[in-house]
Amino acid sequence: MINKLLIANRGEIALRILRAARELKIPTVAAYSEADKDLMHVKMADESICIGPPDSSLSYLNIPAIISAMELSGADGVHPGYGFLSENADFAEKVEKSGFDFVGPPASVIRMMGNKISAKDFALKAGLPIVPGSSGPIEEDTHKKAEEIGYPIIIKAASGGGGRGMRIVHSKEELESSIELTQQESAIAFGDSTVYMEKFLENPRHIEVQVLADRQGNVLHLGDRDCSLQRRHQKVIEEAPALGIDEDKRQEIYGQCIDACKQLNYVSAGTFEFLYENNNFYFIEMNTRIQVEHPVTESVTGLDLVKLQLRIARDEELKVKQEDIVMKGHAIECRINAENSETFIPSPGKIIEYHAPGGIGVRMDSHLYKDYVVPPYYDSLIAKVICRANDREDARARLERALDEMYVLGIDTNLDMHRQLVNDPNFIKGGISINYLENISKDKQ
Ligand code: ADP
Repeated sequence: MINKLLIANRGEIALRILRAARELKIPTVAAYSEADKDLMHVKMADESICIGPPDSSLSYLNIPAIISAMELSGADGVHPGYGFLSENADFAEKVEKSGFDFVGPPASVIRMMGNKISAKDFALKAGLPIVPGSSGPIEEDTHKKAEEIGYPIIIKAASGGGGRGMRIVHSKEELESSIELTQQESAIAFGDSTVYMEKFLENPRHIEVQVLADRQGNVLHLGDRDCSLQRRHQKVIEEAPALGIDEDKRQEIYGQCIDACKQLNYVSAGTFEFLYENNNFYFIEMNTRIQVEHPVTESVTGLDLVKLQLRIARDEELKVKQEDIVMKGHAIECRINAENSETFIPSPGKIIEYHAPGGIGVRMDSHLYKDYVVPPYYDSLIAKVICRANDREDARARLERALDEMYVLGIDTNLDMHRQLVNDPNFIKGGISINYLENISKDKQ
């Protein structure tokens, strides 16, 4: 039972969590860094508590500071949002051991799915289709393994995330140096040099399935999302549902995801990520947290995923049944970043003027306000513009209208890039692959 919720995150997701908690009449405590005292949710929360200096390793990633903040404020539950500690099994374990509620699955599930090798082992055993030729950690016989899989292959960090710790290898000459580089990089970035290799799919789409499970054993799927529009393996635009997926295949994968959750004793919101090529799904990983793109699913299902996460963490049983979940219309989300549209260099600074789009079918998830200063220390996401309509073309046209209406003065943003993308003939048609954005960017250079 959560009687007071600590929000251990920042920016738009912290505000999103605060809003859900408020609708459930749960008092909130904002845990913030010294750089974030002016964040909108810090001002709005019932209480706020500074957890350390701007450097996230000393604040948002500082487990003892966050546990102390819970003890000091009397918060008995914590929502980690996405990023930071949301998929840190040690943190979830510490929260559990301190007698508090972690809004998410049990620490043991986070640990297993947090390692891409054990996650794939589990997926294979659970009957999910995985990327062809995947194997365990790279130790020996690397050339033989790579030949068996067949080039091109991709070397991936077992503990990787955020699109980092991956390297594509086209031929055996590049193999050893690529393995070494990926090992070195992942040791620095993730504190674990374990890497594995799998087949590099050349032109897939990224399609993921949202699931939701309560502590009583009920598991639901909330349909799929297409997140193929990516830059450096990071999502830029997402939509629900994915276009042009064979209906039988779709129902089959939903069923497999639900079975996998039951085997895992999964709890809370989660996402199974797949690559999709030639009418086949291939599991790549599971995210055991709420995702940035969850609003597109909320827009087509009408369900509040963060509120449901909180209800689940309070031991409530899901009232909604699978047959009640009907996907209505189409929704698309653009991630607006504080960065230069061409160089992608982050652009922190003071917001001099700001106008949020509105009107029918437009949702803005953002913590921005006039005079707010975007700090240089964190992720550059400043807003998510989400549009829903009865069909995809109407949702797209609405998004085009909303992006035209929006302006942010004082810092650079990628708004222009989004304006171009939603007008791109291939995006309008739909069903593009994960390489599309990189390819058109190369063409421009
Ligand atoms: P992360 O945890 O860093 O997000 P993922 O395993 O989810 O990493 O992969 C992120 C993206 O990287 C995918 O959406 C896809 O664009 C690309 N990718 C990952 N694995 C493969 C693969 N085997 N073949 C082709 N692209 C891949």
